[in-house]
Amino acid sequence: MPDGNSIGKRPCPVHTSPPDMKWTKSLIPTLKETPAEAEIVSHKLLLRAGLIRKLTGGLYTFLPLGLRTLHKIEQIIREEMNRAGALEVLMPTFQPSEIWQQSGRYETAADVLYKVRDRAKKEWILSPTAEEVITSLAAGEINSYRQLPINFYQVSIKFRDEIRPRFGLMRAKEFIMKDAYSFDVSDEAAMGSYRKMYDAYKRIFDRCGLKNFPVEADTGVIGGNYSHEFMVPAETGENDVVFCEGCGYAANVEKAASGIPKTAPREIGPAIEKFATPGVVTIEALSKAPYSVPANRQIKTLIYIADSKPILVLVRGDDQLNEAKLASAIGTTIFRPAEAQEISDALGAHPGSLGAVGVTKFSVYADERLRGANDMTTGANEDGFHFRNVSIDRDIQVTKWADLRTVTKGEPCAKCGKPLKIQRAIEVGHVFKLGTNYSEKLNAMFLAEDGQRYPCVMGCYGIGVTRTLQAVIEQSNDKDGIVWPVSVAPYTVCITPLSVAPDSAVMKLAEQLYSDLTARGVDVILDDRDERPGVKFKDADLVGFPIRIGIGEKSLAKGEVEIKPRTGAVQPVKPEEAVERVLSLIAELTPRAS
Ligand code: ATP
Ligand code: MG
Repeated sequence: MPDGNSIGKRPCPVHTSPPDMKWTKSLIPTLKETPAEAEIVSHKLLLRAGLIRKLTGGLYTFLPLGLRTLHKIEQIIREEMNRAGALEVLMPTFQPSEIWQQSGRYETAADVLYKVRDRAKKEWILSPTAEEVITSLAAGEINSYRQLPINFYQVSIKFRDEIRPRFGLMRAKEFIMKDAYSFDVSDEAAMGSYRKMYDAYKRIFDRCGLKNFPVEADTGVIGGNYSHEFMVPAETGENDVVFCEGCGYAANVEKAASGIPKTAPREIGPAIEKFATPGVVTIEALSKAPYSVPANRQIKTLIYIADSKPILVLVRGDDQLNEAKLASAIGTTIFRPAEAQEISDALGAHPGSLGAVGVTKFSVYADERLRGANDMTTGANEDGFHFRNVSIDRDIQVTKWADLRTVTKGEPCAKCGKPLKIQRAIEVGHVFKLGTNYSEKLNAMFLAEDGQRYPCVMGCYGIGVTRTLQAVIEQSNDKDGIVWPVSVAPYTVCITPLSVAPDSAVMKLAEQLYSDLTARGVDVILDDRDERPGVKFKDADLVGFPIRIGIGEKSLAKGEVEIKPRTGAVQPVKPEEAVERVLSLIAELTPRAS
């Protein structure tokens, strides 16, 4: 029986196929109907092909075929991490709250933490990630610059209390992540470790057969450093990626900037002037007659509560605030829009009439695009009134200027001027230069050549292994089912005898090809079910085996078997040539790192 200690500890997989893999001996519960719970194609196919089953929302069991694919992806990851010189370890999934308090994330990551209590009522955290644990390990084990650089990785279960678990494995409560952590003597050396992981990630996703691309990513509240996300283009993704076909610039919309011009300064107007705007509470209403103030001459004022205090956030009337950028600007992710009562308590007016003119009690964060703007209109903090002739520099006390607006498609690229495009995408991996934030807090110091002690310079690198599995399906499918890349298919070849009578020539050849291919290192499943050919072909296509070998009496009488790549035409071959043909097809179809 598994006990608590085995949760998250996966034995290192050794991929020996069971000696005799017959369909009837496995559990491959394919479904004709699509389960109602699944919204996106990859989730539907995971269920229909019998790869996973739901326990309850956000929690899934991997069935034998799903697990085989999972192990293949993990294997590719291990090979590339090892190639990059990282060391595999396995950390506890159960973590003491104290180290989370020490790093400060007990509060800042509170919304995703699952907390459990033991019999002595002591609190533990179920690992959503492992910076705290690895930095504690480094604090104990790393003493000297001679031990650096070092990079540790693990493949293990992570837990996150997601607000909205959905889309099957894409956003689950419990999922498998490969996480790695590098330790270096300097910023420059840390960049080297980062680069190695960046290259390894590219190879990993290429080898999984995924179209993928790295994009500049938000560094969030740790800030100031360097980060890329690896994205898989897909309409069902939860990220918007801004990219330029001219120069290759690509960034998550949470981080992307464009070359859009600042607000044009005008002749500085006279002093601000209050004017009545009864019933006008939207940018749009103010842009219409009789006021006719274009949105790009309005200042939009938003109120958030951060650190229990109201803050004012200003963007241009025609721009949208980007909350990820706001988090970086204010240095915390813990903030929320103020409620109606909090707003009127703070400014004495309601949304639609808010502004920052003369406000000194609260911090004011303003978007860079407003810098130097004058002749602007904004709410007067009195219901039914606005100010015109507002000059930001003269009339508003800005606490901090920052890039706060969301880039939209068609804006000019900041680097080359070409119009930017936006694409939906799935984030499958994330590389991040952390700096010394964790090493300082958790005391991971090393003795340098100059005899001084310094905090290790860290990087962290994550891959959503189970999300990657589903992303492959999301990207690679057709009307009949999954189209697995050879590298991660649960079995590479499915042999489909059209009759299964034990001593028939058909079955004998099927068995022979099965053992010949297996002996050559190919993953083969033999569909020995006593089913109509149509049923077997449909299931093989649904599960998505890259190559199917059909053996029937008729073709055998002609001295042929039929080899069919999942998306290609049937290729009749002589039985004695089948093994070589399959091997060369596999070589041809295997995705490679670019
Ligand atoms: P997201 O923005 O999608 O919530 P994240 O940025 O919080 O992800 P990281 O902390 O960077 O995630 O984790 C590393 C990787 O783990 C991600 O790139 C993603 O592939 C995967 N991942 C994160 N959360 C989940 C989840 N709830 N279910 C499945 N995979 C996840
Ligand atoms: Mg991320």
